[in-house]
Amino acid sequence: MFLVDSHCHLDGLDYENLHQDVSDVLAKAAARDVKFMLAVATTLPGYQTMVQLIGDRPNVAFSCGVHPLNQEQPYDFSELRQLAADERVVAMGETGLDYYYQQETKAQQQASFREHIRIGRDLKKPVIVHTRDAREDTLAILREEQVEGCGGVLHCFTEDRETAEKLLDMGFYISFSGIVTFRNAETIREAARYVPLDRILLETDSPYLAPVPYRGKENQPAYTRDVAEYMAVLKGVSIEQLAETTTENFSRLFHVPLSRLTD
Ligand SMILES: [Zn+2]
Ligand SMILES: [Zn+2]
Repeated sequence: MFLVDSHCHLDGLDYENLHQDVSDVLAKAAARDVKFMLAVATTLPGYQTMVQLIGDRPNVAFSCGVHPLNQEQPYDFSELRQLAADERVVAMGETGLDYYYQQETKAQQQASFREHIRIGRDLKKPVIVHTRDAREDTLAILREEQVEGCGGVLHCFTEDRETAEKLLDMGFYISFSGIVTFRNAETIREAARYVPLDRILLETDSPYLAPVPYRGKENQPAYTRDVAEYMAVLKGVSIEQLAETTTENFSRLFHVPLSRLTD
């Protein structure tokens, strides 16, 4: 079996106490069949140190971008474009809008989000979108910037079924994290039952949001397995079927050859 963690912050894990190094994290993941991961950036300097920390590995790809909650300091759009052009980078982001934690930077968040989509279209790299308390603006910007030109994924999905429907209409993929296992997440489970299997991705968003039964502990890519097992039951398919389809979805969206995603 081959599972992919489509969204983790590998540079944010606790290497002092919980893991020896990145290889240790990848070994723990592989022991549970999680054999490839997408390491997601949240700032441009952070992207550069993350690439240094992880290095060139056959089973890790990178995204490049500036998170909506990191917009207090302006950054250079041309630097984003230049860094994102690296062949190890398979996606733009994470980008998007977060009005829950930050209202003051709305304008900067929107400008940054638009720029990620424009660069994504130019470079043919899909966008990884984060949204919180900003549903309407997120959908409007995706439409206005013609995101179909690069495609994308709504990561760590916490919206409702109607929103999933609108995103699917735009050709989007929907990524489910450990939140889907939380007791009070019935709205998300309803959306997860609705989204067709060939549009679903799995993620941990490590080190945040560990799934049941690890809630409150640090999350890690290995726990993609727990999200997958839960989703398989929800979708009424075998874990093998879910693994195979979500890996194919990952390959299709991010243009990572399937030959890189097999044992
Ligand atoms: Zn996010
Ligand atoms: Zn994230």
